[in-house]
Amino acid sequence: MEIFNSMTRRKEEFVPIEEGKVKMYACGPTVYNLIHVGNARPIILFDVLRRYFEYRGYEVTFVQNFTDVDDKIIKRANEEGITAQEVAEKYIQEYFTDAKGLGVRPATIHPKATETMDEIINLVQTLIDKGYAYPVPSGDVYYRTLKFKGYGKLSHQPIEDLMSGARIDVNDEKENPLDFALWKAAKPGEPYWESPWGKGRPGWHIECSAMNRKFMGNTIDIHCGGEDLQFPHHENEIAQSEAANGEPFAHYWMHNGFLNIDNKKMSKSLGNFFTVRDAAAAYGYEPIRFFMLSAHYRTPLNYSRESLEQAQAALERLYTAKDNLSFLSQNGAEGGPNAAEQAVLDQADSFRERFDAAMDDDFNTADAVSVLFEVVRAANKAVSENATKAGAAALLKLVLEFTDVLGLLYGKEEESLDEKVEALIAQRQQARKDRNWAEADRIRDELKAMGITLMDTKQGVQWKKD
Ligand SMILES: [Zn+2]
Repeated sequence: MEIFNSMTRRKEEFVPIEEGKVKMYACGPTVYNLIHVGNARPIILFDVLRRYFEYRGYEVTFVQNFTDVDDKIIKRANEEGITAQEVAEKYIQEYFTDAKGLGVRPATIHPKATETMDEIINLVQTLIDKGYAYPVPSGDVYYRTLKFKGYGKLSHQPIEDLMSGARIDVNDEKENPLDFALWKAAKPGEPYWESPWGKGRPGWHIECSAMNRKFMGNTIDIHCGGEDLQFPHHENEIAQSEAANGEPFAHYWMHNGFLNIDNKKMSKSLGNFFTVRDAAAAYGYEPIRFFMLSAHYRTPLNYSRESLEQAQAALERLYTAKDNLSFLSQNGAEGGPNAAEQAVLDQADSFRERFDAAMDDDFNTADAVSVLFEVVRAANKAVSENATKAGAAALLKLVLEFTDVLGLLYGKEEESLDEKVEALIAQRQQARKDRNWAEADRIRDELKAMGITLMDTKQGVQWKKD
């Protein structure tokens, strides 16, 4: 498996730190607003990375943070007359709504900055103790950027270029314009935490370093994020973590390319700024996911009405094939597979090899999707005459193998499961009304077997998937 490493700017063989395990970290959203379609690209990409590693037999620890204290959150809280914490909690829930819609599984751990405060403060103190950071009289703490020899190595910028580009503020307490805040003294009306440098809150970059160390140790396998995070955010994370830990921070750095809207950069001023929620209302969530997978993650991707409509149409073809195979696996001829079906099943390994080769080549989802469609076309053709139950079932299984790795065809399944569960719950309620306890228990057991647990509450019956 080869990954394009932004640090070395070439594809490298993936060698995990610990055999059979992957530790990956992605910088998550600052939770003050609904996520926009540009945010959806990395989120979907990381989900596919993780699914592919799991499919290849790796045990994946995936950490994605929520920045839940920040200037934008505080501003929003003041505008809405609620606390910063309330703003953050609200938009974390909104994030999960969109992520679920996009077929993105929750990370292994979703740490919040406000719940990592002890580790953040410890890390800042370590950097001060090692001479890589300094507190100033106002109560801020800054990172001494020039002391870290590798600064600029990820974004490949010589320190002189960075120096000439740095903004110089005459009132600055910083030793050097490139120094960045690790800790910010509290201003009136802001949330704050007690620290050795007085009341304050962390700068943005430090939380990722602290969370990585807390949940995965000094060195992780893969650090990923959007291209726009490479500088300064990821550069600063490296400076913090490597100076504090004395070990490499991440073995592979992955950055996804930009998403343009109608061939223009997305920006609020251009009025082409869409939230995922807006896009989902127009096209549905799953077409957004399909669209993002239709190009290699490092190439720029253009979001347009046509591209989303194409994604909708392509998905529809997948669903039609799935429904048809599913129908034939119940209603086809007995026995089988027949010769045509068997011929496609005999190619299963070669399809798998090509799918894996595409994904092994720096996660080329575009090529992987092409292989999926080849499988679908071959399956459709094979069952077009005299389909057998066994043949259709085996072909359906083969198609779903690939869609599962890519995280596709989840939308309608989810709906039908919900409907089925709701119907069974209604039947059970009726049985209880009828005092038919045996039947009520039988239905409860049936749901249990489907992995559904019922909870009888005052408000009625609630259910959850195990
Ligand atoms: Zn980060």
